[in-house]
Amino acid sequence: MTDLIEFRQEVRSWLDQNCPESMRSPYRSEADICWGGRDYEFQSDDQKSWLDRMAEKGWTAPAWPTEYGGGGLGRSQVKVLKEELARIHARPPLMSFGISMLGPALLKFGCEELKQQHLPPIVRGEVRWAQGYSEPNAGSDLASLAARCADKGDHYCLNGSKVWTSYGDLGDWMFCLVRTDFEAKKHEGISFVMFDMDTTGISTRPIRLISGKSPFTETLFEDVRVEKNQVIGELNQGWTVAKYLLTHEREMIATTGLSSAGSVPVGKTAAHLLGTENGVLHNSILRADIARFEMDERCLELTIERARDEVKAGVSLGATSSMFKYYGTELNKRRYELLMSISGNDALAWEGDRSHNGRLAKAWLRSKGNSIEGGTSEIQLNIVAKRILGLPG
Ligand SMILES: Cc1cc2nc3c(=O)[nH]c(=O)nc-3n(C[C@H](O)[C@H](O)[C@H](O)COP(=O)(O)OP(=O)(O)OC[C@H]3O[C@@H](n4cnc5c(N)ncnc54)[C@H](O)[C@@H]3O)c2cc1C
Repeated sequence: MTDLIEFRQEVRSWLDQNCPESMRSPYRSEADICWGGRDYEFQSDDQKSWLDRMAEKGWTAPAWPTEYGGGGLGRSQVKVLKEELARIHARPPLMSFGISMLGPALLKFGCEELKQQHLPPIVRGEVRWAQGYSEPNAGSDLASLAARCADKGDHYCLNGSKVWTSYGDLGDWMFCLVRTDFEAKKHEGISFVMFDMDTTGISTRPIRLISGKSPFTETLFEDVRVEKNQVIGELNQGWTVAKYLLTHEREMIATTGLSSAGSVPVGKTAAHLLGTENGVLHNSILRADIARFEMDERCLELTIERARDEVKAGVSLGATSSMFKYYGTELNKRRYELLMSISGNDALAWEGDRSHNGRLAKAWLRSKGNSIEGGTSEIQLNIVAKRILGLPG
Protein backbone atom coordinates (compact mmCIF):
# COMPACT_ATOMS: atom_id res chain seq x y z
CA MET A 1 0.00 0.00 0.00
CA THR A 2 2.79 2.41 0.98
CA ASP A 3 4.50 1.51 -2.30
CA LEU A 4 1.36 2.46 -4.21
CA ILE A 5 1.05 5.77 -2.35
CA GLU A 6 4.68 6.54 -3.22
CA PHE A 7 4.11 5.46 -6.80
CA ARG A 8 1.07 7.77 -7.05
CA GLN A 9 3.18 10.68 -5.82
CA GLU A 10 5.89 9.86 -8.34
CA VAL A 11 3.35 9.67 -11.17
CA ARG A 12 1.71 12.91 -10.10
CA SER A 13 4.93 14.89 -10.05
CA TRP A 14 6.13 13.33 -13.32
CA LEU A 15 2.85 14.27 -15.01
CA ASP A 16 3.05 17.79 -13.56
CA GLN A 17 6.39 18.22 -15.26
CA ASN A 18 5.80 16.29 -18.47
CA CYS A 19 2.18 16.54 -19.58
CA PRO A 20 1.90 19.72 -21.69
CA GLU A 21 -0.97 22.02 -20.73
CA SER A 22 -2.59 21.68 -24.16
CA MET A 23 -2.78 17.88 -23.73
CA ARG A 24 -4.90 18.27 -20.59
CA SER A 25 -8.29 18.64 -22.22
CA PRO A 26 -10.69 16.39 -24.17
CA TYR A 27 -10.20 15.98 -27.93
CA ARG A 28 -11.84 18.82 -29.86
CA SER A 29 -12.04 16.77 -33.03
CA GLU A 30 -10.88 13.47 -34.57
CA ALA A 31 -7.76 15.29 -35.75
CA ASP A 32 -6.58 15.61 -32.13
CA ILE A 33 -6.28 11.83 -31.78
CA CYS A 34 -2.66 10.75 -32.15
CA TRP A 35 -2.41 7.51 -34.14
CA GLY A 36 1.35 7.63 -34.74
CA GLY A 37 2.90 5.78 -37.66
CA ARG A 38 5.49 6.34 -40.36
CA ASP A 39 3.75 9.26 -42.06
CA TYR A 40 1.85 10.69 -39.11
CA GLU A 41 1.75 14.47 -39.09
CA PHE A 42 1.65 15.71 -35.51
CA GLN A 43 -0.87 18.48 -34.85
CA SER A 44 1.53 20.32 -32.55
CA ASP A 45 4.92 20.09 -30.83
CA ASP A 46 3.04 19.37 -27.59
CA GLN A 47 1.30 16.36 -29.12
CA LYS A 48 4.65 14.96 -30.26
CA SER A 49 6.49 15.59 -27.02
CA TRP A 50 3.58 14.10 -24.99
CA LEU A 51 3.85 10.90 -27.04
CA ASP A 52 7.66 10.83 -26.90
CA ARG A 53 7.79 11.37 -23.14
CA MET A 54 5.14 8.77 -22.36
CA ALA A 55 6.78 6.29 -24.75
CA GLU A 56 10.16 6.82 -23.14
CA LYS A 57 8.66 5.83 -19.78
CA GLY A 58 7.00 2.84 -21.48
CA TRP A 59 3.66 4.26 -20.35
CA THR A 60 1.96 4.04 -23.75
CA ALA A 61 1.92 0.29 -22.95
CA PRO A 62 2.39 0.43 -19.17
CA ALA A 63 1.78 -3.26 -18.45
CA TRP A 64 4.12 -4.63 -21.15
CA PRO A 65 7.55 -5.94 -20.08
CA THR A 66 10.36 -3.39 -20.09
CA GLU A 67 12.49 -5.51 -22.44
CA TYR A 68 9.99 -4.70 -25.21
CA GLY A 69 9.78 -1.01 -24.33
CA GLY A 70 6.76 -1.27 -22.00
CA GLY A 71 6.44 0.20 -18.52
CA GLY A 72 6.69 -3.13 -16.64
CA LEU A 73 3.97 -1.96 -14.23
CA GLY A 74 1.76 -4.26 -12.16
CA ARG A 75 -2.06 -4.12 -12.33
CA SER A 76 -2.45 -1.81 -9.32
CA GLN A 77 0.21 0.56 -10.66
CA VAL A 78 -1.47 0.69 -14.08
CA LYS A 79 -4.71 1.59 -12.30
CA VAL A 80 -2.98 4.40 -10.39
CA LEU A 81 -1.44 5.70 -13.61
CA LYS A 82 -4.86 5.73 -15.31
CA GLU A 83 -6.44 7.50 -12.35
CA GLU A 84 -3.73 10.16 -12.33
CA LEU A 85 -4.05 10.70 -16.10
CA ALA A 86 -7.83 11.02 -15.71
CA ARG A 87 -7.41 13.43 -12.77
CA ILE A 88 -5.65 15.98 -15.00
CA HIS A 89 -7.88 15.13 -18.02
CA ALA A 90 -4.80 14.06 -19.97
CA ARG A 91 -5.45 12.86 -23.52
CA PRO A 92 -4.22 9.38 -24.40
CA PRO A 93 -0.79 10.02 -25.95
CA LEU A 94 -1.41 7.35 -28.58
CA MET A 95 -4.32 5.43 -30.08
CA SER A 96 -3.00 2.19 -31.45
CA PHE A 97 -4.37 -1.14 -32.69
CA GLY A 98 -0.80 -2.33 -32.11
CA ILE A 99 -1.21 -1.74 -28.38
CA SER A 100 -4.83 -2.74 -27.91
CA MET A 101 -4.93 -5.75 -30.24
CA LEU A 102 -1.72 -7.04 -31.81
CA GLY A 103 0.60 -6.56 -28.82
CA PRO A 104 -1.21 -8.94 -26.43
CA ALA A 105 -1.30 -11.64 -29.16
CA LEU A 106 2.40 -11.16 -29.94
CA LEU A 107 3.31 -11.31 -26.26
CA LYS A 108 1.45 -14.58 -25.85
CA PHE A 109 2.11 -16.40 -29.14
CA GLY A 110 5.00 -14.57 -30.85
CA CYS A 111 8.57 -15.86 -30.97
CA GLU A 112 11.31 -13.73 -29.40
CA GLU A 113 12.48 -12.40 -32.78
CA LEU A 114 9.00 -11.10 -33.71
CA LYS A 115 8.48 -9.54 -30.28
CA GLN A 116 11.81 -7.72 -30.55
CA GLN A 117 11.01 -6.58 -34.09
CA HIS A 118 7.48 -5.29 -33.55
CA LEU A 119 6.77 -4.42 -29.91
CA PRO A 120 9.22 -1.52 -29.26
CA PRO A 121 8.12 0.44 -32.39
CA ILE A 122 4.49 -0.05 -31.32
CA VAL A 123 5.23 1.40 -27.87
CA ARG A 124 6.94 4.40 -29.49
CA GLY A 125 4.04 4.94 -31.92
CA GLU A 126 6.33 4.53 -34.93
CA VAL A 127 4.24 1.97 -36.80
CA ARG A 128 0.50 2.14 -37.35
CA TRP A 129 -1.29 -1.22 -37.64
CA ALA A 130 -4.42 -2.19 -39.51
CA GLN A 131 -6.58 -5.23 -38.81
CA GLY A 132 -7.28 -7.58 -41.73
CA TYR A 133 -9.98 -9.90 -40.40
CA SER A 134 -13.36 -9.32 -42.15
CA GLU A 135 -14.00 -10.30 -45.75
CA PRO A 136 -17.02 -9.79 -48.00
CA ASN A 137 -18.28 -13.28 -47.08
CA ALA A 138 -16.70 -13.62 -43.66
CA GLY A 139 -17.85 -11.20 -40.96
CA SER A 140 -19.76 -12.87 -38.15
CA ASP A 141 -18.72 -16.21 -39.63
CA LEU A 142 -15.08 -15.13 -39.66
CA ALA A 143 -13.66 -18.63 -40.03
CA SER A 144 -15.14 -18.77 -43.56
CA LEU A 145 -12.43 -16.37 -44.70
CA ALA A 146 -11.02 -17.05 -48.16
CA ALA A 147 -7.87 -14.90 -48.60
CA ARG A 148 -5.37 -17.50 -49.86
CA CYS A 149 -1.73 -17.57 -48.86
CA ALA A 150 0.12 -20.15 -50.94
CA ASP A 151 3.50 -21.63 -50.02
CA LYS A 152 6.12 -20.55 -52.60
CA GLY A 153 9.14 -22.15 -50.97
CA ASP A 154 11.00 -19.23 -49.40
CA HIS A 155 7.86 -17.06 -48.95
CA TYR A 156 4.03 -17.10 -49.12
CA CYS A 157 1.97 -15.50 -51.86
CA LEU A 158 -1.29 -13.82 -50.80
CA ASN A 159 -4.36 -13.24 -52.98
CA GLY A 160 -7.84 -12.12 -51.96
CA SER A 161 -9.43 -9.21 -50.18
CA LYS A 162 -10.52 -7.78 -46.85
CA VAL A 163 -13.33 -5.37 -46.10
CA TRP A 164 -14.21 -2.82 -43.41
CA THR A 165 -10.52 -2.32 -42.72
CA SER A 166 -10.46 0.65 -40.34
CA TYR A 167 -7.94 3.21 -41.66
CA GLY A 168 -6.64 0.61 -44.13
CA ASP A 169 -5.19 3.43 -46.26
CA LEU A 170 -3.22 4.80 -43.30
CA GLY A 171 -1.84 1.56 -41.88
CA ASP A 172 1.90 0.90 -42.18
CA TRP A 173 1.58 -2.80 -41.41
CA MET A 174 -1.33 -5.21 -41.30
CA PHE A 175 -2.01 -8.21 -39.07
CA CYS A 176 -4.13 -10.49 -41.16
CA LEU A 177 -5.98 -13.80 -41.11
CA VAL A 178 -5.32 -15.91 -44.19
CA ARG A 179 -6.03 -19.46 -45.35
CA THR A 180 -2.85 -21.52 -45.66
CA ASP A 181 -4.36 -25.02 -45.84
CA PHE A 182 -7.05 -25.11 -48.50
CA GLU A 183 -8.25 -28.67 -47.75
CA ALA A 184 -8.53 -28.49 -43.94
CA LYS A 185 -11.78 -27.82 -42.02
CA LYS A 186 -12.53 -24.12 -41.93
CA HIS A 187 -11.14 -23.36 -38.45
CA GLU A 188 -8.02 -25.42 -39.03
CA GLY A 189 -6.39 -24.03 -42.16
CA ILE A 190 -6.03 -20.42 -40.99
CA SER A 191 -2.77 -18.63 -40.20
CA PHE A 192 -2.07 -15.28 -38.55
CA VAL A 193 0.42 -13.30 -40.65
CA MET A 194 1.86 -9.78 -40.73
CA PHE A 195 3.17 -7.70 -43.62
CA ASP A 196 4.19 -4.19 -44.57
CA MET A 197 1.37 -2.37 -46.37
CA ASP A 198 3.93 -0.93 -48.83
CA THR A 199 4.52 -4.43 -50.25
CA THR A 200 3.86 -4.64 -53.99
CA GLY A 201 0.35 -5.92 -54.83
CA ILE A 202 -1.55 -4.30 -51.92
CA SER A 203 -4.12 -1.63 -52.70
CA THR A 204 -6.99 -0.05 -50.80
CA ARG A 205 -10.30 1.37 -51.97
CA PRO A 206 -12.23 3.79 -49.76
CA ILE A 207 -15.72 2.76 -48.61
CA ARG A 208 -18.14 5.66 -48.65
CA LEU A 209 -20.94 5.65 -46.11
CA ILE A 210 -24.19 7.59 -46.10
CA SER A 211 -22.37 10.42 -44.25
CA GLY A 212 -20.20 10.87 -47.36
CA LYS A 213 -16.95 9.41 -46.09
CA SER A 214 -15.72 6.81 -43.64
CA PRO A 215 -12.52 5.49 -42.08
CA PHE A 216 -13.02 2.12 -43.84
CA THR A 217 -11.36 0.62 -46.85
CA GLU A 218 -11.54 -2.50 -48.90
CA THR A 219 -8.05 -3.97 -48.99
CA LEU A 220 -7.03 -5.97 -52.06
CA PHE A 221 -4.15 -8.42 -52.36
CA GLU A 222 -2.68 -9.48 -55.68
CA ASP A 223 0.33 -11.81 -55.47
CA VAL A 224 1.56 -10.19 -52.28
CA ARG A 225 4.79 -11.54 -50.86
CA VAL A 226 4.49 -12.51 -47.18
CA GLU A 227 7.71 -13.43 -45.42
CA LYS A 228 7.75 -16.84 -43.77
CA ASN A 229 9.10 -15.44 -40.51
CA GLN A 230 6.05 -13.15 -40.14
CA VAL A 231 3.65 -15.83 -38.90
CA ILE A 232 2.50 -15.59 -35.27
CA GLY A 233 2.04 -18.98 -33.61
CA GLU A 234 1.97 -22.22 -35.58
CA LEU A 235 1.13 -22.34 -39.28
CA ASN A 236 -2.56 -23.32 -39.74
CA GLN A 237 -3.22 -22.66 -36.04
CA GLY A 238 -3.98 -18.94 -36.50
CA TRP A 239 -7.58 -19.31 -35.29
CA THR A 240 -6.32 -19.67 -31.70
CA VAL A 241 -4.31 -16.44 -32.05
CA ALA A 242 -7.25 -14.71 -33.75
CA LYS A 243 -9.65 -15.62 -30.94
CA TYR A 244 -7.19 -14.48 -28.27
CA LEU A 245 -6.74 -11.14 -30.03
CA LEU A 246 -10.53 -10.79 -30.22
CA THR A 247 -10.84 -11.14 -26.44
CA HIS A 248 -8.55 -8.10 -26.13
CA GLU A 249 -10.32 -6.19 -28.88
CA ARG A 250 -13.67 -6.90 -27.22
CA GLU A 251 -12.47 -5.81 -23.81
CA MET A 252 -11.01 -2.64 -25.32
CA ILE A 253 -14.29 -1.82 -27.11
CA ALA A 254 -16.30 -2.66 -23.96
CA THR A 255 -14.43 -0.12 -21.88
CA THR A 256 -14.63 2.68 -24.48
CA GLY A 257 -16.55 5.53 -22.90
CA LEU A 258 -16.37 4.36 -19.28
CA SER A 259 -15.72 7.10 -16.72
CA SER A 260 -12.81 5.02 -15.40
CA ALA A 261 -11.28 5.27 -18.91
CA GLY A 262 -11.32 9.06 -18.64
CA SER A 263 -14.79 10.06 -19.93
CA VAL A 264 -16.51 12.89 -18.11
CA PRO A 265 -19.31 11.36 -15.98
CA VAL A 266 -22.75 11.92 -17.52
CA GLY A 267 -24.09 13.46 -14.28
CA LYS A 268 -21.30 16.04 -14.29
CA THR A 269 -22.06 17.01 -17.91
CA ALA A 270 -25.77 17.35 -17.05
CA ALA A 271 -25.01 19.53 -14.02
CA HIS A 272 -22.69 21.69 -16.15
CA LEU A 273 -25.16 22.15 -19.03
CA LEU A 274 -28.49 22.27 -17.17
CA GLY A 275 -27.50 23.69 -13.80
CA THR A 276 -28.61 22.38 -10.40
CA GLU A 277 -30.63 23.51 -7.41
CA ASN A 278 -28.79 22.72 -4.16
CA GLY A 279 -26.63 20.32 -6.16
CA VAL A 280 -29.66 18.46 -7.59
CA LEU A 281 -30.85 18.37 -11.21
CA HIS A 282 -34.35 19.80 -11.57
CA ASN A 283 -35.73 17.16 -13.98
CA SER A 284 -36.46 14.11 -11.81
CA ILE A 285 -36.90 11.69 -14.74
CA LEU A 286 -33.55 12.65 -16.22
CA ARG A 287 -32.03 12.43 -12.74
CA ALA A 288 -33.31 8.87 -12.33
CA ASP A 289 -32.07 7.88 -15.83
CA ILE A 290 -28.62 9.26 -15.08
CA ALA A 291 -28.51 7.56 -11.66
CA ARG A 292 -29.50 4.22 -13.24
CA PHE A 293 -26.90 4.67 -15.97
CA GLU A 294 -24.11 5.59 -13.55
CA MET A 295 -24.91 2.63 -11.28
CA ASP A 296 -24.87 0.23 -14.24
CA GLU A 297 -21.60 1.78 -15.41
CA ARG A 298 -20.04 1.34 -11.98
CA CYS A 299 -21.22 -2.29 -11.81
CA LEU A 300 -19.58 -2.99 -15.18
CA GLU A 301 -16.35 -1.29 -14.08
CA LEU A 302 -16.21 -3.37 -10.90
CA THR A 303 -17.00 -6.60 -12.74
CA ILE A 304 -14.23 -5.89 -15.26
CA GLU A 305 -11.87 -5.13 -12.37
CA ARG A 306 -12.72 -8.49 -10.80
CA ALA A 307 -12.19 -10.32 -14.09
CA ARG A 308 -8.79 -8.62 -14.49
CA ASP A 309 -7.79 -9.80 -11.04
CA GLU A 310 -8.84 -13.32 -12.03
CA VAL A 311 -6.72 -13.07 -15.20
CA LYS A 312 -3.78 -12.06 -13.03
CA ALA A 313 -4.42 -15.18 -10.94
CA GLY A 314 -4.21 -17.32 -14.10
CA VAL A 315 -7.88 -17.61 -15.14
CA SER A 316 -8.37 -17.03 -18.88
CA LEU A 317 -10.70 -14.17 -19.84
CA GLY A 318 -12.04 -16.14 -22.82
CA ALA A 319 -15.79 -15.89 -23.38
CA THR A 320 -16.22 -13.42 -20.51
CA SER A 321 -14.92 -10.73 -22.88
CA SER A 322 -18.08 -11.33 -24.98
CA MET A 323 -20.23 -10.55 -21.95
CA PHE A 324 -18.31 -7.32 -21.40
CA LYS A 325 -18.39 -6.44 -25.11
CA TYR A 326 -22.16 -6.87 -25.24
CA TYR A 327 -22.91 -4.98 -22.05
CA GLY A 328 -20.26 -2.27 -22.48
CA THR A 329 -21.29 -1.35 -26.02
CA GLU A 330 -25.00 -1.27 -25.19
CA LEU A 331 -24.09 0.92 -22.20
CA ASN A 332 -22.03 3.26 -24.37
CA LYS A 333 -25.00 3.67 -26.71
CA ARG A 334 -27.13 4.56 -23.67
CA ARG A 335 -24.47 7.10 -22.63
CA TYR A 336 -24.76 8.90 -25.95
CA GLU A 337 -28.57 8.77 -25.97
CA LEU A 338 -28.51 10.43 -22.54
CA LEU A 339 -25.92 13.02 -23.59
CA MET A 340 -28.01 13.86 -26.65
CA SER A 341 -31.14 14.42 -24.58
CA ILE A 342 -29.23 16.44 -21.97
CA SER A 343 -27.75 18.68 -24.66
CA GLY A 344 -31.04 19.40 -26.45
CA ASN A 345 -31.07 21.00 -29.91
CA ASP A 346 -27.41 21.99 -29.70
CA ALA A 347 -26.50 18.32 -29.76
CA LEU A 348 -27.70 18.07 -33.35
CA ALA A 349 -25.20 20.64 -34.63
CA TRP A 350 -22.94 18.93 -37.17
CA GLU A 351 -20.33 21.64 -37.30
CA GLY A 352 -19.94 25.27 -36.25
CA ASP A 353 -19.54 26.86 -32.86
CA ARG A 354 -22.53 25.55 -30.91
CA SER A 355 -21.81 23.84 -27.61
CA HIS A 356 -20.21 20.63 -28.92
CA ASN A 357 -18.97 21.72 -32.38
CA GLY A 358 -20.70 18.68 -33.82
CA ARG A 359 -18.51 16.35 -31.79
CA LEU A 360 -21.43 14.95 -29.85
CA ALA A 361 -23.63 14.14 -32.84
CA LYS A 362 -20.70 12.40 -34.55
CA ALA A 363 -19.76 10.47 -31.40
CA TRP A 364 -23.41 9.47 -30.91
CA LEU A 365 -23.57 8.05 -34.45
CA ARG A 366 -20.15 6.41 -34.07
CA SER A 367 -21.30 4.66 -30.87
CA LYS A 368 -23.81 2.67 -32.97
CA GLY A 369 -20.88 0.91 -34.63
CA ASN A 370 -19.56 -0.31 -31.25
CA SER A 371 -22.07 -3.14 -31.20
CA ILE A 372 -20.95 -4.30 -34.68
CA GLU A 373 -17.13 -3.97 -34.67
CA GLY A 374 -15.18 -6.79 -33.05
CA GLY A 375 -18.22 -9.07 -33.50
CA THR A 376 -21.88 -8.01 -33.34
CA SER A 377 -24.05 -8.04 -30.22
CA GLU A 378 -25.96 -11.06 -31.58
CA ILE A 379 -22.71 -12.99 -31.93
CA GLN A 380 -21.63 -12.03 -28.39
CA LEU A 381 -24.99 -13.25 -27.06
CA ASN A 382 -24.53 -16.55 -28.93
CA ILE A 383 -21.09 -16.97 -27.30
CA VAL A 384 -22.44 -16.11 -23.84
CA ALA A 385 -25.32 -18.56 -24.31
CA LYS A 386 -23.05 -21.42 -25.42
CA ARG A 387 -19.80 -20.90 -23.54
CA ILE A 388 -20.88 -19.17 -20.32
CA LEU A 389 -24.44 -20.34 -19.72
CA GLY A 390 -23.82 -23.76 -21.29
CA LEU A 391 -27.05 -23.66 -23.32
CA PRO A 392 -27.36 -26.08 -26.25
CA GLY A 393 -26.07 -24.71 -29.62
C1 LIG B 1 -16.82 0.66 -36.67
C2 LIG B 1 -16.35 -0.64 -37.29
C3 LIG B 1 -14.98 -0.89 -37.43
C4 LIG B 1 -14.55 -2.09 -38.02
N1 LIG B 1 -13.20 -2.27 -38.21
C5 LIG B 1 -12.77 -3.42 -38.76
C6 LIG B 1 -11.36 -3.63 -39.00
O1 LIG B 1 -10.52 -2.74 -38.74
N2 LIG B 1 -10.95 -4.79 -39.55
C7 LIG B 1 -11.84 -5.78 -39.85
O2 LIG B 1 -11.39 -6.84 -40.30
N3 LIG B 1 -13.18 -5.62 -39.69
C8 LIG B 1 -13.67 -4.46 -39.15
N4 LIG B 1 -15.02 -4.27 -38.99
C9 LIG B 1 -15.96 -5.29 -39.48
C10 LIG B 1 -16.69 -6.05 -38.37
O3 LIG B 1 -15.84 -6.93 -37.71
C11 LIG B 1 -17.88 -6.77 -39.03
O4 LIG B 1 -18.75 -5.78 -39.55
C12 LIG B 1 -18.65 -7.64 -38.04
O5 LIG B 1 -17.89 -8.74 -37.61
C13 LIG B 1 -19.98 -8.15 -38.65
O6 LIG B 1 -19.77 -8.77 -39.89
P1 LIG B 1 -20.60 -8.33 -41.19
O7 LIG B 1 -20.56 -6.85 -41.29
O8 LIG B 1 -20.11 -9.14 -42.33
O9 LIG B 1 -22.13 -8.70 -40.84
P2 LIG B 1 -22.80 -10.14 -41.00
O10 LIG B 1 -21.92 -11.18 -40.43
O11 LIG B 1 -23.24 -10.30 -42.42
O12 LIG B 1 -24.07 -9.98 -40.07
C14 LIG B 1 -25.26 -9.28 -40.50
C15 LIG B 1 -26.27 -9.36 -39.37
O13 LIG B 1 -26.62 -10.74 -39.12
C16 LIG B 1 -26.44 -11.08 -37.74
N5 LIG B 1 -25.93 -12.44 -37.63
C17 LIG B 1 -24.97 -13.04 -38.38
N6 LIG B 1 -24.74 -14.30 -37.96
C18 LIG B 1 -25.58 -14.51 -36.92
C19 LIG B 1 -25.82 -15.62 -36.04
N7 LIG B 1 -25.13 -16.76 -36.15
N8 LIG B 1 -26.73 -15.47 -35.05
C20 LIG B 1 -27.44 -14.31 -34.89
N9 LIG B 1 -27.26 -13.23 -35.71
C21 LIG B 1 -26.35 -13.33 -36.70
C22 LIG B 1 -25.39 -10.08 -37.26
O14 LIG B 1 -25.49 -9.89 -35.85
C23 LIG B 1 -25.76 -8.83 -38.04
O15 LIG B 1 -26.80 -8.14 -37.38
C24 LIG B 1 -15.49 -3.06 -38.43
C25 LIG B 1 -16.86 -2.80 -38.28
C26 LIG B 1 -17.30 -1.60 -37.73
C27 LIG B 1 -18.78 -1.35 -37.60
